[in-house]
Amino acid sequence: MKNTRVLISGGSIAGPAVAFWLNRYGFDVTIVEKAREVRTGGQSVDFKGPTHHSVLQKMGILNAVKQASVADNDNTIINAKGRKIGVIPGAFSGGEINIPRGDLARIIYDLTAQTCEYVFGDSITTLAETADGIDVTFTHGAPRTFDIVIGADGIHSNVRKLAFGPESDYVSHLGYYYVLAGLDAGNDDVLYNEPGRMVGLGGPKAPAFFVFASAPLPPAHDDVNVQKQQVIDAYRGGAWRLPELMAKIPETSEFYMDSISRVTTNHYAKGRVALLGDSAYGNALGGFGTGLAVVGAYVLAGELSRADGDYAVAFARYEAKYRGYASVSQKINAGRLLAPRSRPGILGRNLLFTALKLFTPAMKAFGSPAKTSHSTTTPTSRRMTDRYGRPANPERRRAELKPLTTTQAREPS
Ligand SMILES: Cc1cc2nc3c(=O)[nH]c(=O)nc-3n(C[C@H](O)[C@H](O)[C@H](O)COP(=O)(O)OP(=O)(O)OC[C@H]3O[C@@H](n4cnc5c(N)ncnc54)[C@H](O)[C@@H]3O)c2cc1C
Repeated sequence: MKNTRVLISGGSIAGPAVAFWLNRYGFDVTIVEKAREVRTGGQSVDFKGPTHHSVLQKMGILNAVKQASVADNDNTIINAKGRKIGVIPGAFSGGEINIPRGDLARIIYDLTAQTCEYVFGDSITTLAETADGIDVTFTHGAPRTFDIVIGADGIHSNVRKLAFGPESDYVSHLGYYYVLAGLDAGNDDVLYNEPGRMVGLGGPKAPAFFVFASAPLPPAHDDVNVQKQQVIDAYRGGAWRLPELMAKIPETSEFYMDSISRVTTNHYAKGRVALLGDSAYGNALGGFGTGLAVVGAYVLAGELSRADGDYAVAFARYEAKYRGYASVSQKINAGRLLAPRSRPGILGRNLLFTALKLFTPAMKAFGSPAKTSHSTTTPTSRRMTDRYGRPANPERRRAELKPLTTTQAREPS
């Protein structure tokens, strides 16, 4: 096999998943991750449908993922006095398997830690393609040469910027930001809205979850203090417990903020460089990102192996097989559902979901796939029932992924 030296940028979900398969097929894999260690944190992410299930099984992690999975609780919608005014059914907000993102990241990292080279705390600075390979320089490490580079570094992908062009050509801001903050704020699965802003609380151990409407904010350049101030400004003058929650923001060490944005790419690959996961087809909080990353990793690595390392052939097949499947996530804007911009919008959303809740038992009686069959009820998962965070979006249910056929997503012989 040729072109066996592969560099992957990004050690979250897509990167380690493709590393697992490439290593199995005989490639030498290096992963460079800008964080100093595996990034845990985030809310639950979910897997839906037989293709997701089958790829997790082929990776040998289905049981571990199920063990770490959490229930899909309803969210009580409250008003400024804390009174219940509606409900978002858990059945509409998750998948068949819901797992805290950090637990999933840890499971896939553990699967690859002994067989792949991980370089934490570093980042690619330049990529220069030659006839024999691709020369890579790093912020800290010495320059190296690889045969293939995979950008699995998220919506704001560094590899995409270096190999394809500026972020503004590929990423659309959808008018909202989201924030996860460990505030030790109590309350189980409640959601409170004011026009253009939302907060969800899911118990003492779950991060508080904020979504607010905003035009693009000045770049924070990874400065968490700048981001914290941006959130505090966005929630100024709020009612309910917002003043108290905002007062806790400066002190928290668990903080993650990003825009709700969508990635649109005309091509997944250019020369020796391919994009995978959110860097290629991300749509923040759209509900499909993690499944698409894991299945995309399987397809991309499978094609590289099937083509004996001929990246041009493999990348073309990866894109031909995957673009249609990945497009499922592209229409959703979770911000609109989570933080409607007007009071009538909030009321309409509440009525819609409360009605859906009333119909859920009937749907279950008729064998609807809406409720999970894989959520575990271990003591751990009972403690971690923070299901408020997923966008409760019936569109996602309707858009249940069509399975890839065995020829589309097959393991190379
Ligand atoms: C800390 C964190 C929390 C998240 N929380 C949620 C959540 O609550 N709900 C949800 O739906 N989705 C969340 N996501 C996104 C979710 O993980 C992805 O949508 C999905 O799993 C696809 O994963 P991905 O690996 O393609 O991208 P991501 O998960 O975004 O991973 C990209 C990785 O690339 C790394 N990276 C970025 N730039 C560079 C660089 N220059 N050099 C090297 N590495 C780089 C990042 O540190 C990250 O580890 C979160 C992601 C992260 C990183």
